[in-house]
Amino acid sequence: MGNVTVKNVDRIKQTLWEKSYIPEILRGLSVTTSHFFRNLNPNKEKRTIFTREYPEVITEYPERYRGLHRLMLRDDGQVRCVACMCCSTICPADCIHIEAGEHDDPTIEKYPTVFVIDELRCIVCGLCVEACPCDAIRMDSGRHIPPSLERDEAFFDRDLLMELGGLSEAKQGGQR
Ligand code: SF4
Ligand code: SF4
Repeated sequence: MGNVTVKNVDRIKQTLWEKSYIPEILRGLSVTTSHFFRNLNPNKEKRTIFTREYPEVITEYPERYRGLHRLMLRDDGQVRCVACMCCSTICPADCIHIEAGEHDDPTIEKYPTVFVIDELRCIVCGLCVEACPCDAIRMDSGRHIPPSLERDEAFFDRDLLMELGGLSEAKQGGQR
């Protein structure tokens, strides 16, 4: 075992006044109070804290903002998803649950009888959208997950996701 060099560091001695925390409490209060009065200034230009008056003023999201998922539709209103499981396989948060069923139409092999996304567990990575071979799932709804008191309300099922959906213009993945 090699030599170990130990460096002793002297403890900073505190006075009784410092140990009481009173000076630091007063310093913190003075900062808070100065912010409070500065932001009461009727001249808004002089304020340093800006409050967005939501919901009257809505924040504009960037063009590539990823919002709630939506399931795209075919021309006849059916779900575009063919239950290939690519999205649920790639999902790093394991929050997509799909059950596949046989479709009556022989040109469509499968469709999702169950398609549920746990939106609270989702980490909004967008991999499901990238993995989908037929433009069946998108994250461009521009909407947040709505606030809820119940955990179950974060489970978005197929019909709810289809309500957020719309017609896809993509050609691949069967008929439009
Ligand atoms: S965005 Fe990412 S975490 Fe969310 S469902 Fe898609 S793959 Fe999963
Ligand atoms: S990757 Fe697309 S087609 Fe495949 S299960 Fe997911 S949403 Fe459906």
